[in-house]
Amino acid sequence: MKSGIFTVVCAAALGLAVVGCDANGRALETKGVLRVTATTTMVADLVRQVGGDRVEVAALMGPGVDPHLYKASAADVVKLTQARVVFYNGLLLEGKMQEVMVQMARANSQVYAVTESIPQEKLLEPDSLGGHHDPHVWFDVQLWKQCVDTVERGLSAADPAGRADYAARAVQVRLRLDALHTWALAKAQELPPAKRILVTSHDAYNYFGRAYGFQVVGLQGISTVTEAGLADVTKLVDFIKEHQVKAIFVESSVPPDAIKRISQDAGVKVGGELFSDAMGTPGEIENGYDLGTFEGMIKHNLTTIVGALK
Ligand SMILES: [Zn+2]
Repeated sequence: MKSGIFTVVCAAALGLAVVGCDANGRALETKGVLRVTATTTMVADLVRQVGGDRVEVAALMGPGVDPHLYKASAADVVKLTQARVVFYNGLLLEGKMQEVMVQMARANSQVYAVTESIPQEKLLEPDSLGGHHDPHVWFDVQLWKQCVDTVERGLSAADPAGRADYAARAVQVRLRLDALHTWALAKAQELPPAKRILVTSHDAYNYFGRAYGFQVVGLQGISTVTEAGLADVTKLVDFIKEHQVKAIFVESSVPPDAIKRISQDAGVKVGGELFSDAMGTPGEIENGYDLGTFEGMIKHNLTTIVGALK
């Protein structure tokens, strides 16, 4: 009975800037802080950048978590319902959470797919996806920059008093992403075009390849839901030998076994671990950048790829 009342009181308080309820069911409020929930680490990073200290962001997925396979837990549903605004990647990246997102939107929550501000014609639509778009847009930093628009709009709608603040921060975020894109272009050009072949576990790097001039080959296709078959493995081994690829790469959110086996069969080294669908651990510093940030993710990947293929 007591827990029933607790739930009702908490639920009634939703919609305010409620952080949670104390032992007596009283709503705990943090003045002026907008409660936001994000799905992937990349989306959470973007919201933190634009929101600054006006927002408190809870991310559902941590480092190393595969969003294609991720299912919302009971604790996640609580985080989602307590948020004033929810941001997710969209384009079916969070394939098994789509239903939850639709339900949230129907329940009048403010739910945004950050990728909705990218013009359709900029999205890739590989044959293997049967009419769906490739969701891995963050690896083209210029495309990811366009997602700032959705975040700015969503935060401003939920917190109109912060509109000017969000707009000012959004300008800075776009500038930083421009600088990161320029850095990435220059880094990629350290490799001659013939050496820019990226072999990884799954097809997360099509936008990366288009933006920075790499031919990309993933063993598993766009989603990790389907595992690679024997024919895929043989084909990839032949490709690596034929193109004299110097190194192939494992991903932090996909089990490395298949790539390790291909590395043995093809006689090619594993050039390192890349971040694909999740960023690294916050506070882990490499060459001066934090692997738990979007900038750190992009810089780690390019440095690893260029270093191994040189
Ligand atoms: Zn993926």
